[in-house]
Amino acid sequence: MKSGLPVLIADDEPSMRSMLSQLLQEEGYQVIEAENGDDALEKFKQYPSPLVITDIRMPGLNGVELLQEIKRIKPGTLVIIITSHASIDSVLTALRAGAYDYLTKPFEDISQVMSVVGRAAEQIDLTTKNIYLIDKLKKSNQELEKLNNIFKELSIRDGLTGLYNHRKFQEALALETERGRRYQRTFSLLFFDVDYFKKYNDSYGHLEGDRLLQTLAQLINKRMRKNDLLARYGGEEFVVLLPETPMPQALHLAENIRIIIAEHLFPGRESMPGGNVTVSIGVANFPDDGKDGPSLVKIADRKLYQAKHSGRNRVC
Ligand code: GH3
Ligand code: MG
Ligand code: MG
Repeated sequence: MKSGLPVLIADDEPSMRSMLSQLLQEEGYQVIEAENGDDALEKFKQYPSPLVITDIRMPGLNGVELLQEIKRIKPGTLVIIITSHASIDSVLTALRAGAYDYLTKPFEDISQVMSVVGRAAEQIDLTTKNIYLIDKLKKSNQELEKLNNIFKELSIRDGLTGLYNHRKFQEALALETERGRRYQRTFSLLFFDVDYFKKYNDSYGHLEGDRLLQTLAQLINKRMRKNDLLARYGGEEFVVLLPETPMPQALHLAENIRIIIAEHLFPGRESMPGGNVTVSIGVANFPDDGKDGPSLVKIADRKLYQAKHSGRNRVC
């Protein structure tokens, strides 16, 4: 049983049409009858059935013309042509115009008719399944791509602050150094370290310490431009990469951020030395302080150490 595949039958001979219609209905097809080519085209426009069986010779629109119209409207439609005699010419014309197969009438062997129709139905079934599978594949590919992007994003982010992580910073630093060397551009690095952070953790616990790091990240982030890259270097250390920024501007920005942090009303700041949560900042510049990533990091770190040793809450 073909589970209700719709078939449009076009034949101007009523006895032929009803005979074929009955045969197909017995096999489980859902038959739509049309009494000539024009009627068939009208019905096809209203409901484009995937399989059409049409007589070749009909008054008005003939079978080949109907086939051409149908192929124009829905190229995937399978059309079986019925010729009154095995005229090789008309069969060839129909096949060239895109007919799927042909039947000759009067039908001598009904099982042969049914096997031609059955083959067409099978092909329609396969095509439908293929379309469904391709669609499913496309959808799961899109899902995979989405997941891939999420994983990619996760792999460059720090979980606590949402800032870029150490890995992303190293990548960006390598690129920026390369760019700087090639085009003789400058850039600067700011290294931040929270002063007496251990004391804050000891006083209020690590959860409060985490919250402080998150707030700190937001405070620094607010001062960033689109091209700047802020990352959590590790622990309570942050780093900023400032493309196209010479030393004086970098020092100026670092000083601004230092003040913003020192003036921020962090909860529990009163128990910190000096009564505020503060940071020390080391600044390094390409190419003056170093011509590759590691030497620049080293210099920024050294300057940070200097800032710590000359009293903290300062920029060096
Ligand atoms: P200094 O002024 O010399 O920088 O003193 P400090 O106490 O900040 O320096 P130290 O390196 O001794 O301590 C850093 C502390 O940061 C120790 C560590 O427990 C804490 N820390 C590192 N990562 C995290 C984190 O993700 N969350 C919290 N709450 N604490 C962290
Ligand atoms: Mg530290
Ligand atoms: Mg510290």
